[in-house]
Amino acid sequence: MVDEAEVRDEVRTWLDENWDPDMPLLAWRGLLADTGWGTPSWPKAWHGRGLKPSMDPVVAAVFHDVGAVGVAAGVSMYLVAPTILAHGSDDVKRRFLRPILTGEHKWCQLFSEPGSGSDLAGLTTRADRDGDEWIVNGQKVWNSGAHKATYGILMARTNWDAAKHKGISYFAFPMQQEGVEVRPLHQMNGHASFNEVFFSEARVPHANLIGDEGDGWRVALTTLMHERSAVATKRPRFKNDGGAMVEQARAESREYFDTYKWYPQRAGRANLIQPEAKRLGVSTDPLIRQQITEVESVRRIADWTLRRARDARAAGKEPGPEGSLAKLNMSVIARACHATHTSIQGAAGMLDGPETAAEGMVAEVLVSTPAMSIAGGTDQIQRNIIGERVLGLSKEPEADKDAVFREVRKN
Ligand SMILES: Cc1cc2nc3c(=O)[nH]c(=O)nc-3n(C[C@H](O)[C@H](O)[C@H](O)COP(=O)(O)OP(=O)(O)OC[C@H]3O[C@@H](n4cnc5c(N)ncnc54)[C@H](O)[C@@H]3O)c2cc1C
Repeated sequence: MVDEAEVRDEVRTWLDENWDPDMPLLAWRGLLADTGWGTPSWPKAWHGRGLKPSMDPVVAAVFHDVGAVGVAAGVSMYLVAPTILAHGSDDVKRRFLRPILTGEHKWCQLFSEPGSGSDLAGLTTRADRDGDEWIVNGQKVWNSGAHKATYGILMARTNWDAAKHKGISYFAFPMQQEGVEVRPLHQMNGHASFNEVFFSEARVPHANLIGDEGDGWRVALTTLMHERSAVATKRPRFKNDGGAMVEQARAESREYFDTYKWYPQRAGRANLIQPEAKRLGVSTDPLIRQQITEVESVRRIADWTLRRARDARAAGKEPGPEGSLAKLNMSVIARACHATHTSIQGAAGMLDGPETAAEGMVAEVLVSTPAMSIAGGTDQIQRNIIGERVLGLSKEPEADKDAVFREVRKN
């Protein structure tokens, strides 16, 4: 059993011998993938060192200390890679894990459809077998980053004569091909971070199945559990004076996370509340003070829940219902921030532009926070999960669960 101090020493020595800020970024990340230092808790056979998950932050802290660049971050790393590790064949792991770590492949999530978001298992995008390939037809929607993606994790119906959860397969779908049309959707906050994706006779190799044919629902549950922990959209930190490679990694990260640049506003920008209350001379107003206290209380409670979830994962447990609690808490905080900003600003909070509250950021908060209650599973769905898995309430009735999907009413 290796302890924290040993790991810290070992990674420090390795970085002393190997970290070279003048190396090309791709070569450095390749070295991380080969030695396992980029993802120390992954299995030794697959770019890791087989350490306990609690050692990941220990290693990351030493990397940060030294100013060394880590593997690529984002949806690919935090949603796709864990799903491939859990369900992919050796061939899938061999082809897809390494380019995720090096940042050569960027992925998006192709789950939601116009008629199936919460009712994800009701999806109707179809994949039909044609020799060594599948032909895909249908439409997805709200697909963040699809306009930049090399691959998408695609859920498609491959058997219409099975029950709805049983006829879905999960693919590593190549986005850059004829037959795929990505159209940006413009949001009410002015950004366009997600898209509609249309498939017309698009193709995906049979070898790109993740999990077995028809087992896509089980595979997707792994992705969804990781999605609720919401780390996929967290930016990596870089030291300022790190040299050429750090600058390259920073530029890559800026470009990638540009899609998510409104996410701090989506979360409510609690940090703007007290300065704005003071600036506008309302921080002594008893009702405003009460609202500010409420925001602080829910934030602290959420933080404790998050720490419990983090500790559980560090101890090697699968993400569980605490992910739903954390996700729901983020909505509660966003809504409390929204209400408090509105009370502090009054009608001026609706104004956009450089001379308005926090240079238009408060206005952006007001039109961005509703997304927090929808993305990654709505508040109502999280409450259903908590009711059933945490409180042990009876399951929501699902009349069509065992029926043949072809005969089920859709949309
Ligand atoms: C910022 C953002 C990013 C996103 N990124 C992606 C992405 O990258 N890839 C992707 O595939 N999708 C993405 N989504 C889509 C997201 O997963 C869906 O919007 C979400 O699952 C809800 O589905 P829906 O919009 O179809 O709403 P619906 O499912 O139609 O829900 C409508 C309303 O009915 C309620 N409702 C539905 N079913 C129940 C029930 N059983 N019990 C109680 N209430 C219920 C819902 O809570 C909601 O209030 C994103 C969404 C947002 C906002």
